[in-house]
Amino acid sequence: MIMDGKELSRKIREEIRTEVKSYMIKPCLAVIQIGDDPASNVYVASKEKACNEAGIYFKHIKYSEDTREKEIINKIVEMNNDEYVNGILLQLPIPEKYNSERIINYIARNKDVDGLTDINVGKLLNNKKCLVSCTPQGIMELMKHYQIDLEGKNVVIVGRSNLVGKPLISLFLNHNATVSICHSKTVNLKSYTLNADILVVAVGKKYIITEDMIKKDAIVIDVGINRENNMIYGDVDFEKVKEKASYITPVPGGVGPMTVAMLLRNVNECYKKMNTSK
Ligand code: NAP
Repeated sequence: MIMDGKELSRKIREEIRTEVKSYMIKPCLAVIQIGDDPASNVYVASKEKACNEAGIYFKHIKYSEDTREKEIINKIVEMNNDEYVNGILLQLPIPEKYNSERIINYIARNKDVDGLTDINVGKLLNNKKCLVSCTPQGIMELMKHYQIDLEGKNVVIVGRSNLVGKPLISLFLNHNATVSICHSKTVNLKSYTLNADILVVAVGKKYIITEDMIKKDAIVIDVGINRENNMIYGDVDFEKVKEKASYITPVPGGVGPMTVAMLLRNVNECYKKMNTSK
């Protein structure tokens, strides 16, 4: 069965749009971009479009690559104190000369819509309520929607980035799954993937997962986005693997749209928290 992230995200976005319509003041998401990376330009534009459709005000702060880190941090501190800014996100990747970890940790924890500050990462690890990174949250939402029972399942995650792989460890663990995480130094990747009841792949290499690497009826979640000749491919050889998997996400139309929907949800949740705690 195909897990339709596009349709589920459409429903979630519609719910958020309806809720936002009832607010006197629009929620606001601020996205900080440093440099002019073409892929980042595309991602920022799609976030802007999604915000516009949901009725969320989008503030795009774009810095040139010669901006001093201090100036960016000062802007974050200013927006932390701005009651009309509800979510702040640093568009990654940023040029190597900047310390992304340091910059991210200046974002107030209650506006950290990417869930990347040390405080939100730590809370997630301890299974406490917090802002959770959008892609992993979108994957869990798909699991919930398709009523996948996670308890006792062997979950194998390929890719250990802060944005995707690492938060997923906690999320699956908190649902009593048994979690293995693989990366570029893993020896014999196939011996792990073949054991997976649920396989999540977030590597960024076209078709790194082939049909012989999964067991029959596995659930396969493909996070990868690989561009080639104006086409987008996942990390999983979808056409062949779909014959063997019980559930599988397509690329595009699987995890990607869920990520955007979860970003809007995080902004809306931040807004509600800020406006009820006054
Ligand atoms: P990343 O930071 O580059 O991490 C890639 C991970 O893959 C690393 O942990 C790396 O291991 C591992 N890896 C590389 N080669 C491997 C191999 N041969 N075998 C096993 N593991 C290997 O990437 P990311 O930000 O997590 O993104 C991963 C992919 O997902 C990209 O295609 C990205 O565009 C996509 N993505 C999609 C969404 C969405 O919404 N759909 C959101 C975020 C990312 P090491 O740690 O050892 O280097």
